[in-house]
Amino acid sequence: MHPFSKKLISWYHTNKRTLPWRDTVDPYKIWLSEVILQQTRVEQGLPYYNKFIEKYPTVKSMAIASQDEILKLWQGLGYYSRARNMHESAKQILDVYDGQFPNNYEKLLKLKGVGTYTAAAIASFAFNLPHAVLDGNVYRVLSRLFNIHEPINSHQAKSIFTQIASDLLPSKHASDFNQAIMEFGALHCKPTSPLCATCPLNKECLALIQNTVSVLPFKTAKKPVQKRYINYLYISDEQRIWLHQRVNQDIWKNLYDLPYIETESKIELHELQNRLDFIELFKKKSYNIVSQKTMVHKLTHREIHATFWQIDVKKDFILNKNGIFETSFHLLNNFAVSRLLDKYFEGIAKKDKNE
Ligand code: SF4
Repeated sequence: MHPFSKKLISWYHTNKRTLPWRDTVDPYKIWLSEVILQQTRVEQGLPYYNKFIEKYPTVKSMAIASQDEILKLWQGLGYYSRARNMHESAKQILDVYDGQFPNNYEKLLKLKGVGTYTAAAIASFAFNLPHAVLDGNVYRVLSRLFNIHEPINSHQAKSIFTQIASDLLPSKHASDFNQAIMEFGALHCKPTSPLCATCPLNKECLALIQNTVSVLPFKTAKKPVQKRYINYLYISDEQRIWLHQRVNQDIWKNLYDLPYIETESKIELHELQNRLDFIELFKKKSYNIVSQKTMVHKLTHREIHATFWQIDVKKDFILNKNGIFETSFHLLNNFAVSRLLDKYFEGIAKKDKNE
């Protein structure tokens, strides 16, 4: 075994966190934890993992659930395509593999939403197969240990780092090594203030020797963030509210949403009321705009500038537009919505309570 690998595994056995998906070789549980942790911190993901395991203890129980139920349980975690893909994969495992989790890398890669990282993680953690994982932690540790200045988001980076990680991977201890290097990156060789003074690799670490720790890993500039301006119409009478489901290829696909009008920039009330799509919705029926609230919500490549217009309507109000439907307030909790909408509803509920 490479001396670096030996030291990392030994560090791991002394320092690893106790986490439920570490005490198992059940590929379903490992897969679920990996999907949840893809863009989520451990502290935030842990309660979701527990909720999912409690409600869906097997891949079969997840496969036969409805997508609405899955999205509802996922609510608040963001990046909802993860939940939709996870559900698709569960159905695929039930249909194609009779509910048995695929047990090799190539078959794992065919599952929806499973890329090279997740396939390597499941193959090694559940089946101890020799596939090296590459996540942000691994890129950081390797780029510092070997003082690599190749940007980690470049085209070549993946093959360069995969080669190094594979060279370090001890074939009989793939699971331990992969978990060790990721945990080491998360807890010890951290993005800022890595613990170099107490590092078991500080005699060999080339970045420490050459004083480049703070600039590694190297990354090229990110894509610019796209700003979107969405005017949400919170139309309600005392009992009803109007919703629709987002079915297009866009953010928050299949989640429920308020009717909205998207504009090029932020608009004022009179501009909203003069728009044909707004006039069309109300068809000369009386309405009363009682409040306006602006919120900014950040996604990976987008910044959503949302203006919520609270619009009171009368009890005989009917909104006839394809895809938009009315529901009563007490059923609102059954619909999976984006974190942005959830926050807005929370604000409304708090306000109502204080009044
Ligand atoms: S010496 Fe510092 S930079 Fe190098 S591997 Fe250890 S913690 Fe990371």
